[in-house]
Amino acid sequence: MSDSLRVAVVGSGPAGFYAADALLKSEDPTVAVDVLDRLPTPWGLVRLGVAPDHENIKAVSRAFERTAAKPGFRFFGNVEVGATVSHDELLDLYDAVVYTVGAQSDRTLGVPGEDLPGSWPATAFVAWYNGHPDFQELEFDLVHKRAVVIGNGNVAIDCVRMLALTAEELATTDTTDPAVAAISASPLEEIVMVGRRGPAQAAFTPPELQELGELAGADVIVDPADLELDPASEAALEQDRERARRNVDILREFAGRAPEGKPRRIVLRFLVSPLAILGHDRVEAIEVVRNELVEEGGRIVARPTGETETIECGLVLRSVGYKGVPLPGVPFDERAFVIPNEAGRVVGAGRTYCAGWIKRGPSGVIGTNKKDATETVEHLLADARAGKLDRPGNGLSLEDLLVQKGVEFVEYEGWQAIDAAERAAGEPLGRPRVKQTAWERLLETARSVRSKA
Ligand code: NAP
Repeated sequence: MSDSLRVAVVGSGPAGFYAADALLKSEDPTVAVDVLDRLPTPWGLVRLGVAPDHENIKAVSRAFERTAAKPGFRFFGNVEVGATVSHDELLDLYDAVVYTVGAQSDRTLGVPGEDLPGSWPATAFVAWYNGHPDFQELEFDLVHKRAVVIGNGNVAIDCVRMLALTAEELATTDTTDPAVAAISASPLEEIVMVGRRGPAQAAFTPPELQELGELAGADVIVDPADLELDPASEAALEQDRERARRNVDILREFAGRAPEGKPRRIVLRFLVSPLAILGHDRVEAIEVVRNELVEEGGRIVARPTGETETIECGLVLRSVGYKGVPLPGVPFDERAFVIPNEAGRVVGAGRTYCAGWIKRGPSGVIGTNKKDATETVEHLLADARAGKLDRPGNGLSLEDLLVQKGVEFVEYEGWQAIDAAERAAGEPLGRPRVKQTAWERLLETARSVRSKA
């Protein structure tokens, strides 16, 4: 691969792997791809975001394993771009750099009390139950009777469902042991999910909504009055039969059910926005306002009516969307929280590209990133063929640089050792894996194959 184009892909989630795969498929030019990640483990949100009880969705990592097996692919974990190596250093080492770092922060609500203990971004809760090594010290206090989840997207649904799973349902997943223990032992009786707009505008998708109605330990409650739609929402159902129409049909079926008296209740509320999170030293309640829907600039938006309500609760999860964060030395759009780009070519930086959530914002399902990454790679390859990717060669390789800097990087074999150890730990328990969740443990397991090599 010595004459191949050399490309660094920064971020090993779905967008990174789809980009790597599209690059490795190229015959003119041929491409060698190094995928870098801040964590010792690959797969990004497939490992650390997708809910543990969605093993079928996590199975997409098998396709990424096939990409990793292709000639020309290398993985460098435990390498943080912007800290361990800089963007400029990468440009010295590679013909092109593709950023696929996702959206690593969360949007805020901007209401009083948002930072009270007991009020968490959903992103932190998700990272905690999924075993992200940076989130294991967090102490989720699940000792309350009611939790409120703010937002009407699929992440909100994941949080609601995870809080509602029984010990038996959790037992066959790779949820971390502390999360299984905390959720199973929790005295939670009610999980309220609040959406600021109506059922026809909800961002969640029908299969995820349907699942809420199939849980062993939770009844799902919907007030039929919330499903009386205004004419604009009725019209929206006709235009969006795949999502809005199916969501409303499922909600109507839920509304017609009599509760079975299961240990937990999931209450789906619509047309309410948080005004404040209340409490002295920690969350005690949330104040919400009733909304009405109005059309504004061709969009249906929520407008507060002035009618307020206080919902007592001890836990608030704010699930109102992820947000991209800037990387040192790489252009950033501070309003859209993405890297400014034209179809994947970064604006204002040569030989630099982006794909996935950091390119288009946090939307779509995992597969959406395939088309997105392919578009970016097509432009990168076109630029290479047009002779626009001239690297100022310094003869160094990334390994040389990392060794010079004394960085302990994790290669793909190191990850395979972690993967094998986790699966072996899960097997006797009937679980897909027991995740290693401490940085030092992950590095130590990866090191075991390095010292054997
Ligand atoms: P999302 O789909 O964009 O949903 C965000 C939700 O937050 C929307 O309901 C939005 O309401 C609401 N919101 C925003 N600002 C708010 C505010 N100030 N007050 C109250 N509500 C507010 O984002 P997400 O749930 O984080 O998901 C991110 C992406 O990952 C989505 O594409 C999602 O489908 C995907 N995902 C998929 C799965 C799956 O396939 N199983 C699982 C998890 C995530 P408005 O609509 O009114 O703005």
